[in-house]
Amino acid sequence: MTILRILDYPDPRLKTVAEAVVDINDPEVQQMISDMLETLENTPNCGGLAATQLDIKNPKRIFVFYDFIESEGTPAVPTCVVNPEIVHIEGEVFEEEGCMSVYPDYIQAKVTRPAITHMRAMDRHGKPVEYIRSGYLAKNFMHEIDHLNGKLYIDHLKPVKRTLVNGKITKAKRLKEKRA
Ligand SMILES: [Zn+2]
Repeated sequence: MTILRILDYPDPRLKTVAEAVVDINDPEVQQMISDMLETLENTPNCGGLAATQLDIKNPKRIFVFYDFIESEGTPAVPTCVVNPEIVHIEGEVFEEEGCMSVYPDYIQAKVTRPAITHMRAMDRHGKPVEYIRSGYLAKNFMHEIDHLNGKLYIDHLKPVKRTLVNGKITKAKRLKEKRA
C-alpha cells in the first residue's frame, strides 16, 4: 500500500472530473481504494479525501471518509464509497469549512451546505450502500462529491470573499513553501 500525496491548490488536477468505476473488481480500482484508505488513516486531522485531490493517475469516482453517527456518538470508521450520488438533501447550514488541498492550517471559509444529506453508492465489493447523515458528514459528502466534479469549496464563495481568500492563499502558499 502507498500513502498518496495530497494535491495542493492551485494544482490543475484538482479540476479533474472523475470517471465512474465500471468494474469494481479491476485491480487498479481496488489498489486505489486501499491506497486512499491508507492515506486517510495516516493524515492527521483529515475527515475525508476524494480521488481527484490525490496524486493518482486516473482518479475514479471514489472518496474515503470516517463514518460516524454524530447524534449517537458512534466510533469513526474509515469507509470508502464508489460512484456516490446524492439522492436527497434537507435543510441548510452556513458554516466554516476547510480542505486538505487548500492550506487547511490557514484557510477556512463559510459555505452553504445541507443539514441532512442522503447518499447512495457502492462499497468496495460492489454492494449498494446508503448513508443518511447530518452535521459534519452531511457537509462532507457534498464537499467530496464536489471534488469528484472538479470543484473546491472555495468555488462556492461570492466574488468579494473569494478575492479575500485568494490573498490568504497566496500568503499560506509562501509560508508552506518556506516551511518545506
Ligand atoms: Zn477537500
